[in-house]
Amino acid sequence: MTERLEGESGLTRAVALLRAGELVAIPTETVYGLAADARNGEAVAAIFEAKGRPRFNPLISHLASLEAAAEVGVIEGAALELAQTFWPGPLTLVVPLRAESGLSSLVTAGLGTVALRVPALPLAHALLTAFDGPLAAPSANPSGKISPSTADHVAESLAGRIAAVLDGGPAEVGVESTIVDCSGPTPRLLRPGGLPVEALEAALGAPLNHEAPTNDTPPNAPGQLSSHYAPGKQVVLNVTKPAEDALFLAFGPGYPQASANLSLGGDLREAAANLFAMLHALDTQPGSVIAVAPIPNNGLGLAINDRLTRAAAPR
Ligand code: AMP
Ligand code: MG
Repeated sequence: MTERLEGESGLTRAVALLRAGELVAIPTETVYGLAADARNGEAVAAIFEAKGRPRFNPLISHLASLEAAAEVGVIEGAALELAQTFWPGPLTLVVPLRAESGLSSLVTAGLGTVALRVPALPLAHALLTAFDGPLAAPSANPSGKISPSTADHVAESLAGRIAAVLDGGPAEVGVESTIVDCSGPTPRLLRPGGLPVEALEAALGAPLNHEAPTNDTPPNAPGQLSSHYAPGKQVVLNVTKPAEDALFLAFGPGYPQASANLSLGGDLREAAANLFAMLHALDTQPGSVIAVAPIPNNGLGLAINDRLTRAAAPR
């Protein structure tokens, strides 16, 4: 059953659950977030499972302070300017990911950038300080439903699917954070939200680029800014008997010849947690083809297959 938590003892319990890799819905000033330890791949995979999200889009990591955020991402230039002006608050910054961040690659969907936020709500700040690490959290609602601004909203839609809800009262802002991508040459608005664009432009002393990247933007290349990660090698799906020279990414038992196995026991949560790290690792090995075993198309398998299908699409 989903525990309802509040007050000092609730906060202590929430931290204990999060450290144990459980999911806890947490209050912030924007909306309630569905939080998991961002360093624990299976915990992060469980977020997608609980939300029924059919896609591994990257998640925002929440931290207690700018100092803590700077251990996960490279915060310089315009990003530092904006962080110093608006954190804590309803602003998310996309910045280059630090190699030693310790984050699960599922949080960034395998990208070289990371979305960071330092929330202002005192209870969120207290929780992050006590947890002492990054919490990955999308909004705490089933995929496709509206974002929750009270603990009751969360309980109505996710009860039984998550360990607990920490009640911090109604969310003040009520809409998601504004997201600014600071990983490119100039800051770009990715999502309007709780922090007005005018405030950002005043701080930057310049208009903010609103342009969505066009289809003419160069295709993905390793290390380049891209909307989703795909290996440089050719990816072939639903392979049970891989060619001799192919790198074989297996799923489940019965593949002793595999180069890597997403989950020997056939566990989709473990497979999701391993997906991006294993694709990256195989991509650095000699060979030109990554052959992937069939993945069941249910539960988290939907999101795994979505990502693999895109990785296998001709580029
Ligand atoms: P949600 O977690 O549902 O609030 O959504 C998070 C938003 O942040 C999504 O629109 C993501 O596409 C965006 N986002 C998170 N990480 C990144 C990243 N590394 N690069 C670009 N966008 C990101
Ligand atoms: Mg959402």
